[in-house]
Amino acid sequence: MSIRDIVLAGTPQLRQIAKSVNSQWFGTNDAISLIAELFDTMKARNGVGLAAPQIGVSLRVIVYGFQINSRYPDQDPVPLTLMVNPTIIEASKDVVYLYEGCLSLPEVRGLVPRHEWLEVQAQNEKGQLFQKRYQGFEARIIQHEIDHLDGKIYPERMDNMRTLGITSALKEAGLIR
Ligand code: ZN
Repeated sequence: MSIRDIVLAGTPQLRQIAKSVNSQWFGTNDAISLIAELFDTMKARNGVGLAAPQIGVSLRVIVYGFQINSRYPDQDPVPLTLMVNPTIIEASKDVVYLYEGCLSLPEVRGLVPRHEWLEVQAQNEKGQLFQKRYQGFEARIIQHEIDHLDGKIYPERMDNMRTLGITSALKEAGLIR
């Protein structure tokens, strides 16, 4: 297991635009260890997704997925997925709201609008392109992680800052589980 520290909000690194990965990167030791570190760190920290800038690597690489997650107990399993250079091709006009958190902003949640579905193109660990439509919680995670690649964090996506709260207090109030 190779677990890395999470870069917290306030660190300038988290605000950088991450660089695209070039074709020479795939299959290198750097690539293999970054991918392992992302999955290992996400699982160790109980995350549902993680972007490379969150472990201090300014590259357009994200991972996500879980079977059961105690931070989001109401969500169905999402397959473990790696996306390199993900691009949103199309997104729904309709948005959905959910209390969202972030490993880079511990103990805080806020109600964040996200596209209900989106069509994404990305590369896998071999550099092969794939394109797929995602919806629901999986689509939300992808939007959250792609935002990290662009130096954005979820409070910037909120349209009602009054919903921002401390996780334990929101649970106490019955607003999240
Ligand atoms: Zn995050």
